Amino acid sequence: MGKIKCLDCKELFEENLKNYDDGDSIECPECGAEMIVEYPSEGKPRLKTPKQKFWDEDEEFEQEEFEE
Ligand SMILES: [Zn+2]
Repeated sequence: MGKIKCLDCKELFEENLKNYDDGDSIECPECGAEMIVEYPSEGKPRLKTPKQKFWDEDEEFEQEEFEE
């Protein structure tokens, strides 16, 4: 067992990264942010923010402007 730090709200929560594979997503129980599990060739598994999130936000923003 270990503690994971949310990349978004910085909240610490209990999660075992060994239960996840490379590329799996974890949802923060505090803010609901999605994080991707990454297994580097060396060292411990870590979390990264999914890049796709930024694309979704851009699209939504453009659509809102278009309607007005
Ligand atoms: Zn969070």
